[in-house]
Amino acid sequence: MSVLFRNCSAHRLPSAATAGWVLVDGSRFAAIGTGDEPQADRVIDLHGAHVYPAFVDAHVHLPATGLYAVGMDFRGERSRTAILESFKERAADRSALLFGGNFEDPLDEPISRVELDGAVGDRPALLVRADMHSSVVSTALLDQLDLTSLEGVDKGADGSPTGYLREQAAAAAWTWFDRNLPKEQVRDAVRTAVKLAYSKGVTSVHEMHVVEWRGWGAWDTLAEATSGMALVVVPYIATTDVERVRSMGFNRIGGDYFLDGSFGSHTAWLAEPYLSPPPNGSSSTGISYRDDEGLYDFFLEAQKADLQVGVHAIGDAAIEQAISTWERVGREVGVPEVRRKGHRIEHFECSSDDHLDRARTLGLRASVQPAFDLYWGGPGGLYAERMGWDRAREMNRFGTMLERGLVVGAGSDSTVTPLDPFVQMQAMRGHHLEDERLGRTLAIKTHTMGSRALAFGPGLDGTLEAGAVADIVALDRDLAETEIDDLTATEVLGTWAAGTRVWPPESAESD
Ligand SMILES: [Zn+2]
Repeated sequence: MSVLFRNCSAHRLPSAATAGWVLVDGSRFAAIGTGDEPQADRVIDLHGAHVYPAFVDAHVHLPATGLYAVGMDFRGERSRTAILESFKERAADRSALLFGGNFEDPLDEPISRVELDGAVGDRPALLVRADMHSSVVSTALLDQLDLTSLEGVDKGADGSPTGYLREQAAAAAWTWFDRNLPKEQVRDAVRTAVKLAYSKGVTSVHEMHVVEWRGWGAWDTLAEATSGMALVVVPYIATTDVERVRSMGFNRIGGDYFLDGSFGSHTAWLAEPYLSPPPNGSSSTGISYRDDEGLYDFFLEAQKADLQVGVHAIGDAAIEQAISTWERVGREVGVPEVRRKGHRIEHFECSSDDHLDRARTLGLRASVQPAFDLYWGGPGGLYAERMGWDRAREMNRFGTMLERGLVVGAGSDSTVTPLDPFVQMQAMRGHHLEDERLGRTLAIKTHTMGSRALAFGPGLDGTLEAGAVADIVALDRDLAETEIDDLTATEVLGTWAAGTRVWPPESAESD
């Protein structure tokens, strides 16, 4: 069936020229033009809307995104009382999910399990920090966990756990909570997350499944929940089990395969010590999760199995480990072979010019989260507090990455930052460092063609050209004419995935 979208400004990425109508035949663009309109089985009048290729979010955790959407989201909340009140209200319903996310340290007063128990009584409750590397648990949840051999258990003056957990211990709490959710609840949460994506003009996500946290079964639940949906879910499974991933039919592996932790939790792996003192008992340079030999064996095996590999690397020491290990693989199989797969580095935050040049030589692609800079960058931000502005200003240099020839794509790492391309474009255009800001059109391209290219390499799709897959978003404004601060007010009038309308739901259609 052919559909003519008329009466619109169609932004013909990559050229940035505009056209007045778009003809879709089946799942692909058939023609784009201005003036004389072709015949079509169906005509949709867009009433002057601005049309772009739909967005691709290159780093997402859909189940968590859904949990946050159906649970409590404490983004920006600093008040202990407000958080505890919310838990108390929720707990009045015995079947409600006692999950809260996105809290930011420090709160006005810290929360320990004692206060959380006061709000939820004897029920397991989980409060997760914005970076997901720390959490607070109620006593009922703490009692379910075996934390004896795990790092990251905060202890009070009397030696008993305060309920504040970091890294391994926080992951154990998440895993228990996650695995004990009824399947139905997980499915509902995932579907909520998918609707959220559509409502923001996103038709494809790269899903980062962390096996260490969520287990293998959770992947099946996710696959089941999203099957039959128009959303393209590109799977990145964080495991070294190359055979298993191949047998699942995937040609990519890793993603959030952790080489280190995060800045918020003092666990990003740095070459030089943190400036702000890490919590008692933890290393002054963060945490390294993998030894060089093990990582080399994994990279080499995946490369030989023809898989694209992604790894999570935030600190400069972690990024150095990823790059030097790929260089080693290059010496074994040849750099062109490594380049051909276009392996990814997720986050890629603390990278020197030398890192970027070596990464380009290896054809490594940069999966960045622009809003990390928006929320935690700048001279007064969290990163500067953690290691001083001189070092923090070397982070998240999107402009330099593109200038030096890296393939760069944008993602939200939702729930770490919102699954919202308009927030990400705001961050790309308004980087704390003027030199690193992306131009208006480049910011759009990075979230459409760039994000897509992280998984598939540069190609036609993700553009608005005849022959490309008809992933379309219709907006109430011209993004290139919109000031940075107004971007997040953009209204998504409609989203189509491969020619099928997914937002607003078909039932809401009026034409
Ligand atoms: Zn990650």
